[in-house]
Amino acid sequence: MTIAKGRALVTGGSGFIGSHLCERLLNDGYDVLCVDNYYSSTKDNIAHLLDNPRFEVMRHDVTFPLYVEVDEIYHLACPASPIHYQRDPVQTTKTAVHGSINMLGLAKRTGAKILLTSTSEVYGDPLVHPQTEDYWGNVNPIGPRACYDEGKRAAETLFFDYNRQHNLKIKVVRLFNTYGPRMHPYDGRVVSNFVVSALNNQPLTVYGEGQQTRSFCYIDDLIEGLISMMATGDDVTGPINLGNPGEFTIAQLAELVIEQTGTTGGVSYFPLPQDDPVRRQPDITRAKATLGWEPTVPLAEGLTRTIEFFRSTLS
Ligand code: UDP
Repeated sequence: MTIAKGRALVTGGSGFIGSHLCERLLNDGYDVLCVDNYYSSTKDNIAHLLDNPRFEVMRHDVTFPLYVEVDEIYHLACPASPIHYQRDPVQTTKTAVHGSINMLGLAKRTGAKILLTSTSEVYGDPLVHPQTEDYWGNVNPIGPRACYDEGKRAAETLFFDYNRQHNLKIKVVRLFNTYGPRMHPYDGRVVSNFVVSALNNQPLTVYGEGQQTRSFCYIDDLIEGLISMMATGDDVTGPINLGNPGEFTIAQLAELVIEQTGTTGGVSYFPLPQDDPVRRQPDITRAKATLGWEPTVPLAEGLTRTIEFFRSTLS
């Protein structure tokens, strides 16, 4: 029998990022409790982990309290893609806010360290470029993205108030666009949409003229960042940006996907969604200095692995 390194709770553990994190924590020797309500995730993502005796799965919605004994909490649970979080916006805000209150309460009782995956969406449609952590953002508080953006901003507020008021060991990271194997094929995200369309020889759906930019971080790089953040001393609270600073227009992404898949479907253009940020690129100076972390997988390489994943799952 081996003694576990510690007990880690991953909320949203069956999601795209959560499932990779559970896998990594198991490999690192943790006992892992995966909590999910499967609103925007799938059990397929964790099926390969179920035989591991140190892995436990619980169907639970974080808007309700949770009573378990853990040492570290990775609080990821929240629908994160626009089509998922806009389907039931009231529930999205509840998940971000009540979910955080419940998980912070759990951390307070158990003394666990707690990490929040916040988002680059807290910067809204940014007026500062690239985005540094001390930029306060430009968010429309009543727009269609507000349930997610303001929900996560309120979650950050709660984390920092629990830290100041109750001395909780908090870690807040702001994730920029992340992609890779196990992305939901129909979550409406640009990478999954483009790859799935390309593999079906359907036109790639570019919104607007495709001149808006995003910075895409490969999943393995992101997981490394989350683990490094949790390992920091109690004085490190964040917020810290985690993302790949390589900035691409959506048109450039489309070109790359066309080149790598050889699709014959071409491109079709649709209106830009309301409040769609024009530019987004993380400044990761703080992550480099505090965590010694920076992404290593270039977009072309990560895209090849992602295309490979979709090719094998969709066929
Ligand atoms: N986008 C696009 N075609 C799609 C899906 C998204 O052109 O099929 C654009 C979208 O308008 C946005 C960017 O790609 O400018 C990233 O969208 P995504 O939903 O992946 O992430 P987010 O907007 O949350 O960064």
